[in-house]
Amino acid sequence: MSDRIIAACDGAAKGNPGPAGWAWVVADAQGRPERWEAGPLGRATNNVGELTALQRLLETLAPGTAVEVRMDSQYAMKAVTQWLPAWKRNGWKTAAGKPVANRELVERIDALLAERDVEFRYVPAHREDGDHLNAIADQAASDAAVTQQAAGTALGSAEMPVPAPARASASRAKSGAGSAATGAATATAKKSARGRASIKAKFPGSCPCGTSYAAGDMIAKLGNRWGHPGCGGAAQA
Ligand SMILES: [Zn+2]
Repeated sequence: MSDRIIAACDGAAKGNPGPAGWAWVVADAQGRPERWEAGPLGRATNNVGELTALQRLLETLAPGTAVEVRMDSQYAMKAVTQWLPAWKRNGWKTAAGKPVANRELVERIDALLAERDVEFRYVPAHREDGDHLNAIADQAASDAAVTQQAAGTALGSAEMPVPAPARASASRAKSGAGSAATGAATATAKKSARGRASIKAKFPGSCPCGTSYAAGDMIAKLGNRWGHPGCGGAAQA
């Protein structure tokens, strides 16, 4: 049995660029999620979200750690595995001669990768039969993009973020440790969601009721989305 732990990271931007966030989740070697973290990026591109998520994940893993990193960003994975050697040779210019985007993030990740045993695995995003760890990271990054607040195990969040309903029910139907963990997280997080206080929106967004909210309006978690605190019934329909 491999003792390689499994982790996933994901970025989110509501618009590209737009209000953005990052998140990671670290599981054990069997894929059971153990801890997670998410944070805000203000207004940023989706690619910055993806790269920052990877950077933050690697920073939380001790040097020497053997880890499988699951990501849904072809750009971020290829940037740090395939394109990086050529960028270094070319003085951080693209093949077209332009400066490489997000160079500081890519260089930081390169240094972190050198001290860790990382295997990347691409997992498609937003699929009903998708990877359960990617679904958690996706939801946490999306929440951080909307709330612009940091969250995670180290900040006292006792439960795993709840993936979108379609994905949650799909993973419950699968067998294995991952589906059991996702099912448990779904049950406990529903309980805590009722008691969650509203927050003031940092950016405008759309409520599940179909209308939008403005920056400064109060918003609350409605299922797996955010919207007007009074629109909870619409979100469950
Ligand atoms: Zn609403």
